Amino acid sequence: MNRNEREAWYSYQHEKYGIPVEFLRREFDEELKGNIPMDAPLEIPDKMEVIFKYTYGQQSRFFRELRENKALYGSRCPECGKTYCPPRGHCHTCYQPTQWVKLPGTGTIEACTVQYYTTSSFIKKVPFVCAYVKPDGSDSLLMTNMEVDDVAKVKVGTKVIAVYRDLRLGAITDVYFKPLD
Ligand SMILES: [Zn+2]
Repeated sequence: MNRNEREAWYSYQHEKYGIPVEFLRREFDEELKGNIPMDAPLEIPDKMEVIFKYTYGQQSRFFRELRENKALYGSRCPECGKTYCPPRGHCHTCYQPTQWVKLPGTGTIEACTVQYYTTSSFIKKVPFVCAYVKPDGSDSLLMTNMEVDDVAKVKVGTKVIAVYRDLRLGAITDVYFKPLD
């Protein structure tokens, strides 16, 4: 293919699939310039869209309570009394099925770090605090994001309270914690 033919090929594939031209050029330039042996497998661009749903399984109520009732729930073992948040369907010590228990939504930071680098999902929040919070009434730790004006205000031992977002999706990000003033 000559240069004009290659550019036409890139434009067509870009229009058809929405693949950025620079990606197409990176992946297919050698092919279109004729540098791949004629008998080598021919690769062509394509697009796959997948729409699916999945389940939270035994943790489902935890997320429904966040979404529907702005409530933080744990699960308690009827045998040893240990309470898990995030919840577990079974006690990992006794193997007994646990029971749901509503927690007050307050807690204490057990460990925390300030994030200055992150993925695209959280880049607009940098710097932010990621913390292990021990919810009051729970024997385990919940990893969560904090939202604070000044990240220096957050440290181990800081008392925190759950805040529920206006738009709740049934996800762990429906809740975040802030220092309890
Ligand atoms: Zn137990």
